Amino acid sequence: MKVLSITGKRKCALIEKPEPVIKGEFVKVKIVVAPMCTEYKDYQEGKKSESLGHEAAGEVVEVARDGKVKEGDRVVVMPGYPCGTCELCKSGDYIYCEHYVDPLKVCGSQTGTATFAQYCIKQDWLLLRIPDNMSYEHASMACCGLGPAFGAAKRVKVNPGDTVVVTGLGPVGLGVVIIFAKLGASVIGIDSVSYRCKLALKLGARAIINPHDPDALKKIKDITGKNGADISIECSGVPSAREFCINATRRRGQIAFIGWGGHLKVDNIAQKGFTIYGIWHWPLNYAEEFMKLISELSSEIDMLITHRFPMSKAKEAFELQIKGECGKILLDPWR
Ligand SMILES: [Zn+2]
Ligand SMILES: [Zn+2]
Repeated sequence: MKVLSITGKRKCALIEKPEPVIKGEFVKVKIVVAPMCTEYKDYQEGKKSESLGHEAAGEVVEVARDGKVKEGDRVVVMPGYPCGTCELCKSGDYIYCEHYVDPLKVCGSQTGTATFAQYCIKQDWLLLRIPDNMSYEHASMACCGLGPAFGAAKRVKVNPGDTVVVTGLGPVGLGVVIIFAKLGASVIGIDSVSYRCKLALKLGARAIINPHDPDALKKIKDITGKNGADISIECSGVPSAREFCINATRRRGQIAFIGWGGHLKVDNIAQKGFTIYGIWHWPLNYAEEFMKLISELSSEIDMLITHRFPMSKAKEAFELQIKGECGKILLDPWR
């Protein structure tokens, strides 16, 4: 099968690898769409890898046991290889599992962990059945396109009319704009890439503020009419954006960190009375509700997915992600 590999700084190539083999709870999935996430950072740095991608939707082509899915099922492939037996996994919050398994070791397979590939392997309980009337593309937004945003909506307490600051309008931040606008919040997007700012406005943001604007915080306070936003959601992973969220939130407000990396320095958090959340993804027990929401957000998702590339042209896709002039990009591993 064909697999995408990073071969050097801003270099990638398709390589030939054996198809994965499965065992036990593992299922072989033929990947139809592979949404792109943060892999471009490795491409940019030249971090060599033959296992790229963690988001996918596709068709079940082989099962090793009778279980949750069967051959021919259309499924979304959830990220990671959690244990499935700890309390977090059992409660649906598998993403926070601390006991990941090595699927290659379990199955005796050489491949299967990448989604920038024609086939991958996944535990059957981490595959979500796609409703008949939903495309693979839209269903794949249950991964990082809308997944972290939905996870945030399930944790943060949001009321219609609440002001929500979103820092970083990459695909994850745009997902937050979509979902929180749908919940009736007044969303203020924070980014400096004009392509993304315009897209955020189309997706329901009420205002956009450039984080480099010296009056950025004052503008937020003016818009909210209070001493800051009710909720801030950090989606960029940039340390200065974390600090921005702390300063943009009113006292007793809520702050959610979705973006990875970076430190956080808060002076006297007790005085500010914040509730701070760390959110990665969404709990599986909401799968039915989330699929319904995805079908209701069809027109927004059509705007969120801005580009599609054959995997053979992944270089162009990575370069576009570096420029930031895109929403969510989908790869087709078969072209
Ligand atoms: Zn677990
Ligand atoms: Zn992702």
